[in-house]
Amino acid sequence: MNIVLLGAPGAGKGTQASMLCEMLNIPHISTGDIFRRHIKELTPIGKIAKSYIDRGELVPDSVTEEIVRLRLAEADCKNGYLLDGFPRTVAQAKALEGFSKVDVVIEIDVPHEKLMHRIIGRRVCGKCAESYHVDFIGEKRVCEKCGGDLIHRDDDKEDTVKERLFVYANKTAPLIDFYAERGILKKVNGDLAAKDVLSEISKALK
Ligand code: AMP
Repeated sequence: MNIVLLGAPGAGKGTQASMLCEMLNIPHISTGDIFRRHIKELTPIGKIAKSYIDRGELVPDSVTEEIVRLRLAEADCKNGYLLDGFPRTVAQAKALEGFSKVDVVIEIDVPHEKLMHRIIGRRVCGKCAESYHVDFIGEKRVCEKCGGDLIHRDDDKEDTVKERLFVYANKTAPLIDFYAERGILKKVNGDLAAKDVLSEISKALK
């Protein structure tokens, strides 16, 4: 099954994507993670992406679409994939239609006022990208999964988060109607414990 996860920054897409991919045995394709890897490795794409990501803006469609097109052509995507963070604009969604067929789009819905708190308190593993929240880990800054250091991403800081939420409302939220019109959108309540959101998504996929 080819799945797209939609949701505002902080809606829990990354967490749900990891659990779902393990459950369904399909690759988790996060454009944000791909860009962060490029930035770490100082590649030309990383240099372009960094300037946008640091400001909370979207990396240009042409760059992002090409990365996804190449990734979906890899062998492990033949039996399905989960896209997390792509598409983020109607133009990207149209481009995606040109090189792959999406079966279902899951929109993870979280009330706007909760998103800011969720993102600002997020700490992610610099090694494996596992995500935590300070409400649950207190002062601990070591990843439970791989022992890596937990970091506060620069783009998870308040000013950048405001910009990211603004960009989501203006550029990405129109995808909800785009996919509803195609009859493949399923909305789930994301304002629940992670395991309960996962079970809502599992039901929606049946
Ligand atoms: P994420 O980890 O999905 O929140 O992505 C982090 C940042 O990477 C975003 O704020 C954007 O700057 C960039 N990014 C990720 N996915 C895309 C996309 N599909 N289109 C444009 N920019 C993206």
